[in-house]
Amino acid sequence: MSRSKCTLLSGALVEQLLDSVDSVLFDCDGVIWRGDQAITGASEVINLLKEHGKKVFFVTNNSTKTRKMYADKMSSLGFNVTADEVFGTAYCCAVFLKTVCRLEGKVYLMGSNAMKQELEAVGVQQVGVGPDHVSGQPIDWANVPLDPEVKAVVVGFDEHFSYMKLNRAMQYLVQKDCLFVGTNRDTRLPLEGGKAVPGTGCLLQAVETAAQRQAQTVGKPNHFMFDCLAAQFGVERERCLMVGDRLDTDILLGSNCGLKTLLTLTGVSTVAEAEAHRDSGSAERQGMVPDYYVESIADLLPALQG
Ligand SMILES: [Mg+2]
Repeated sequence: MSRSKCTLLSGALVEQLLDSVDSVLFDCDGVIWRGDQAITGASEVINLLKEHGKKVFFVTNNSTKTRKMYADKMSSLGFNVTADEVFGTAYCCAVFLKTVCRLEGKVYLMGSNAMKQELEAVGVQQVGVGPDHVSGQPIDWANVPLDPEVKAVVVGFDEHFSYMKLNRAMQYLVQKDCLFVGTNRDTRLPLEGGKAVPGTGCLLQAVETAAQRQAQTVGKPNHFMFDCLAAQFGVERERCLMVGDRLDTDILLGSNCGLKTLLTLTGVSTVAEAEAHRDSGSAERQGMVPDYYVESIADLLPALQG
């Protein structure tokens, strides 16, 4: 098989690539759906891969849903998926706190109800979900009551992000032994029709700036998401394909973990950006160059139907 990077995947090459892998990891937004709309042909691709005996996984930085919520959304869009095939940052962050950090104590959570549920599912108690309105004067804010059992601040997507939450996170984080974990650093959340809203990365940077500390992040391109999946399913990394629409998260995760990589053009990144990384002469940027690209994952259909 050709090892020249950023090759258009078509014709006989599709079959060769699929024959060379046992597991296919998909990012979700911009790959199998956009917002609430499935990419045309995506469910057929996923279902046929499974019929061909491939393991299929979903690896997403979006922290707003539990594994169960993702599986339900996928089923409603026609995908044949179970919750244990989904690795979102709400779930992976809970596993990270439990297995890597060995957290003993509560979490101050800047995040969603989904994150709260995934934390509770692994036995981690949390405080902080929901609105937190400001009152009083700066001196009151600096002396805001803190829960002495909190041993970690965790930042995910939080639609109730506010000055008071930022302040509370900072007051916990000035305690040197307080852990600091973020789900991901994506700065924008793309929506249908080319629209976008600020992503978790914006919130995380605000907390890092206030706390004057850097968070550890769980999401792509950090290898933890793959480690988490590999530990549960025993996959062979040389026989895995990572499919994504972003070079700096999906493709870089694949490169970081020694997986084959495929960029799909239904989301954020372009071939021109990938080629610019490839031709930059920078060793550091080569991790963001995919092995292959397709216009859409629907381009895998003919090989699967043949
Ligand atoms: Mg994406």
